Amino acid sequence: MRQEYSFTKRSVLDTCSRSYFYEYYAANEKVDFDEGRKARIKEAKKLSSVHMLGGIWLHQFIRQFLGSYPNVPADLERQCCAIFDNAVSRSRNPVRRRNAQGLLLLEYVFDDPEAEERARSSRETLIRAIHNFRNTPEVQAVWKDVLRGEAWIERPIGGLPKIDGYGIRGQIDFAVRHDKQVEIVDWKSGLQDGGHDSLQLFIYALWANKQYEIKPEAISVRRVFLGEGRVEPARGLDATALSRGEAKLVQDIALMCEQQEYGKAGTEEAFTPCLKVNVCRRCKFQRECPEGRALVQSSRTSTSFTLPVLA
Ligand code: SF4
Repeated sequence: MRQEYSFTKRSVLDTCSRSYFYEYYAANEKVDFDEGRKARIKEAKKLSSVHMLGGIWLHQFIRQFLGSYPNVPADLERQCCAIFDNAVSRSRNPVRRRNAQGLLLLEYVFDDPEAEERARSSRETLIRAIHNFRNTPEVQAVWKDVLRGEAWIERPIGGLPKIDGYGIRGQIDFAVRHDKQVEIVDWKSGLQDGGHDSLQLFIYALWANKQYEIKPEAISVRRVFLGEGRVEPARGLDATALSRGEAKLVQDIALMCEQQEYGKAGTEEAFTPCLKVNVCRRCKFQRECPEGRALVQSSRTSTSFTLPVLA
C-alpha cells in the first residue's frame, strides 16, 4: 500500500471517511477483511455516476477541441454525446450489464428510481456546457488565450518532496503558461464536484516553482462557469492563500497517517460514515456500507419507492 497523497484521495476523505476506507483499504489483498465483501467492493470501485460521466466527457471534448483546433472534427460533440448515451443504455439493460466491458453507472445498477431523470439532466448540462464553450464570446476569449500560450492539460505533478513519508501526486487539469506567468483555468460545468481551492493552488505553486522557477505571485486562477457562459476575473495566489494551502496539506497528511493503521487492520468502524442522503445516493459503495444502505433505503421508502432485495 503506497503512502501517497493526491487530490482525488483527499477529496474522497473529505466527502466521507467510510468511503475512503472502501476505496483505499477494504479491497486490498493485504488487508484483513471479509473476502466476499472485498470482492464486491472491488467491483463497486469500477462504477461511475451519470454526473461524473458527463464531467468526463465534457473534459474530453475540451481536450480534443483544443488539441485539434482549428480543424475540430465536425462531429466531435455528437461523438461525446454518443459515448454518454451508450454508457446509459448499457447500464440500463441488466442483460447488457453482464460481462460489459465499458463503464457502468451506479444509478442503474442500484435501481435508483430517479436514474432516468438524473441521466437526462446530466446530458442536458453536458450539451449546454459544450455549446457555451464553443459559442459564448467571453468563453472563447479564454480558450483562444490558452491557444496562444503553452497549454497544460492533465499535466502530472511530480518530483515534490515527501511529507511525513507521503509522496504528493496529482495533475493540473487545465492551465496556460505565458513565459513566467501561469493561469489556471477552472472549468465549472456543474457536472463534477470539487475545484481549485487553496490547497490545490499551493501544490501547483510548489510544482511550477520547482519546474519553471515561476513565482507563486505569478500564478492566478480563473473560473469559467460553462453552464451559464460566465467568466470570473482572474484571482492571484496571495500569501494568505499560500499559507492556508500549506496548513491544509499538513493537516490532511496527519489525518491520513492517523487512519492508516485502522485501514490496514480492516477496522471498518473506525471510519465514520457521512450519512448525508444526497451523498449516499451517489455513492458507489452504498450496497456495502450498512449505515449508508439503510439511509438510502429509508429515503426511498419515504417517497414510496422500494429497493430491490440486496445481495
Ligand atoms: S453510503 Fe454514504 S456513508 Fe456509506 S460510504 Fe457511501 S457516502 Fe459514505
